[in-house]
Amino acid sequence: MKSKNSASIHIPMGEMDVYIVSDGYFGIGNPQPILAPEIEEENVQDALKSLHLPGSEYEMPITTLFIKRGDRHILVDTGEGYHDPVNAGWLQNSLSEAGFSPEDVTDILITHAHRDHIGGILFEDGGRRYPNAKYHIPAPEYNFWNSEAKDFSKSKMTVYPTGKIQTDILGAIKNELTIFEPGDVLFSCIKTELAPGHTPGHSILHIFSGDQSITHLVDVVHSSLLIAHPEWGTQWDVNFEEGVATRKRILESCSANNTLVTTCHLPWPGIGYIGKTEKGWQWIPKAQSDPYSIRI
Ligand SMILES: [Zn+2]
Repeated sequence: MKSKNSASIHIPMGEMDVYIVSDGYFGIGNPQPILAPEIEEENVQDALKSLHLPGSEYEMPITTLFIKRGDRHILVDTGEGYHDPVNAGWLQNSLSEAGFSPEDVTDILITHAHRDHIGGILFEDGGRRYPNAKYHIPAPEYNFWNSEAKDFSKSKMTVYPTGKIQTDILGAIKNELTIFEPGDVLFSCIKTELAPGHTPGHSILHIFSGDQSITHLVDVVHSSLLIAHPEWGTQWDVNFEEGVATRKRILESCSANNTLVTTCHLPWPGIGYIGKTEKGWQWIPKAQSDPYSIRI
């Protein structure tokens, strides 16, 4: 049976409405070497088993957020778009399910410029998918992808990306693109914070309204395996050790502060808490009764 190709969950948040929206998912086959690239296979398989995660045919959701605050309609990242038609590219269907059209989107906040986050900005023919949107990107992210010598030497990648897709897409929207400094508050409801390692400008978002808040961890963790074992890392991080340090720092802070977090690639809908364990941390999904709405 074909799946529905859309999913959205509403989170009422004071004067705002936040939606968790699905762009679908993708498969990576064997979780190694993308996750835990240099760890003994047996240890990784044991850890996957104890977390009830698959040891092969591993899949990850692509999940993002949409925020309505007054007349601002802010989309956080854009999913894969046409780049991965197998099980991804659902974002517009999910927005439509939530009651919004592409024309409604006033702002697109780019957390970092990997394909599963910027791939949905353009149609395959180069046209804009969100015709009325302005774009916002962290300065270190823009500078990295637009620099001549992009340094991947501190990653565990076996093949370095060319960065062409990034310069093509960012170039196509350059007249509508605003560059911000991580730490800036955007739209009076999102405090940005640099979380480097995954990419040099990778930024997490503290979304707030009154005394309510959600921290969007974006790609600090790609799997609950990396919450239990943050030092095992991922080949997707441009700077592997910096990624590990950022992951540990943010996991510690979220567990110490009981922070409600959302994520891009943890099992749908990817909202929950970071719990402390004897050796590290664990993923605690947020309790949810209504499949379409979450109260925080
Ligand atoms: Zn991602």
